[in-house]
Amino acid sequence: MISFRRRFHSTALAETGLYADWGTGVKIKSYLSNIYREVCKDTGGKNESSKLIVVVRLLTLVMLVYTLATCILSLLSGHRGGVAFYLVSLVFFIVIFIMSYKYSTFVSYCILNVYILAWVFANIICFGWNIGVQLFLITLLLFCYFSRYRHEPAKVCYSILLIWLRIFLYYYCQNHSPIITLSPIINDAFQIVNTLAVFGSISIIAYIFSTDTQTLEGKLIEYNEKLQQQAHTDTLTGLYNRRRTMEYLDGLFHSATSQISICLCDIDFFKKVNDTYGHDVGDVVLQTLSQTFRQELPKDCFISRWGGEEFLLIFPQLNGDEAVSALETLRQKIKSIVFDGGTETFSVSMTFGLVEYDYRSDLNSLLKQADEKLYIGKESGRDRIVF
Ligand code: GH3
Ligand code: MG
Ligand code: MG
Repeated sequence: MISFRRRFHSTALAETGLYADWGTGVKIKSYLSNIYREVCKDTGGKNESSKLIVVVRLLTLVMLVYTLATCILSLLSGHRGGVAFYLVSLVFFIVIFIMSYKYSTFVSYCILNVYILAWVFANIICFGWNIGVQLFLITLLLFCYFSRYRHEPAKVCYSILLIWLRIFLYYYCQNHSPIITLSPIINDAFQIVNTLAVFGSISIIAYIFSTDTQTLEGKLIEYNEKLQQQAHTDTLTGLYNRRRTMEYLDGLFHSATSQISICLCDIDFFKKVNDTYGHDVGDVVLQTLSQTFRQELPKDCFISRWGGEEFLLIFPQLNGDEAVSALETLRQKIKSIVFDGGTETFSVSMTFGLVEYDYRSDLNSLLKQADEKLYIGKESGRDRIVF
C-alpha cells in the first residue's frame, strides 16, 4: 500500500504537476502543526490555566497576521505613515509573543491587554473612528470574562473602563480629525480586515473556553452518575442496596395503581456454607444467586440485597398468587445449582416470606409481615414459600 502510494506520487502526480502542490500542502500542514505545538507550550508559572496562555498566544498571532495585512494594505495604497505604524505594531506583537514564553500566564495576559488598549488608542488617533478598530474593545471584554482569574470586582472595573474608553474615543473622534486621512477604498478595506480579526479572535476565545467548560461538564455528569450508581448498589452482588430499595418502595406506594407483592427471602443454613467451605465460597454463592434472580424473575421485578444473605424482591405488577408462581420456579432453579466447594460440591436452598399489598397497610407493617412469614418458613422446615 505504501509502495503503491509512493509510486503514484512519483509518477502520475509528478507528470500532472500536482506533486509539487501535494508537497507544499504537507509542508504547510507541518508548519501549522509546529506553530500549534509552540502555541501550546506551557509557561513557567505554576498552577496557571494552560487554556489562557494558549488563547493569549493565539490572539497575539491573530494580531500579528492582522497588522501584517494592514501593513500590506497601507503599502499598496502608498500611505507611508500607515506602513510605519503597522510595522511598529508588528514588532510589538512579535515581542509579546516571545515574552509569553518567559513570563507567567497572568503577566503575559496583562501585557497583551495593555498593548491592545494602547494600540486601539493610537489607531483611532491616527486613522479615525471609521476603520472600526474600536471593535477590539469587545474582544478584550470577552477575554476578561473568560479568563480564569477569579477576581470578579477587577473584571467588573475593567469592563467599566472599556465601556468608558469606547465612549471617550467616540467623542474624541467627533471633535478631532485623524492624523492620517485614508482614502474611502482603503478605509473600507481596513473595516473588513478589522471585522475579520475581531470576529476571528472572539471565535477563538469562545471556542477554546467553551469546549473546556463542556468537557468539564460532561465529566461532572459522568462522575455524578457513577457516584449515584455506587450509592445505590451493593458492591458484592451488584444488586440494589437497602437505601435505594427504600426510595423505590416510597415511590411505588405513593403511586400504587396495580397489585404489588413483596418477598423477603433468606439462604438456608448459610453460616454452615461459610464455616465448611470458607467465606470466599460463601461470596460466590451470593453472587451466583443474585445472577439467578436476575435471570429467573420477571424483568420489572426489583431485586435488592436487604442485608447479609437476605434479599427483598418486589413485584410491582403481580398479585400474591402470580408472585408465588414466579418464586416457585426460582426456588427450584436455586436448588438445582451445583456449587464447587473445593473438596466437594454442594447446593443451597432458600426460604421465602411473601405478602401482597392490601392498599391499607403502611410500608413498615408490610415488611414486618414479610419477615414474620419468612420466620414461619424457617421454623416449619425451610426451603419453601410462605404466603
Ligand atoms: P438460617 O437458615 O436460619 O437463615 O441460617 P443461616 O446460617 O443462614 O443464618 P445465620 O443468620 O446464622 O447466618 C448468616 C450468615 O451469613 C452469617 C454471616 O457470616 C453470613 N454472611 C452475611 N453476609 C455475608 C457476606 O457478604 N459474605 C459471606 N460469605 N457471608 C455472609
Ligand atoms: Mg440464612
Ligand atoms: Mg439471615
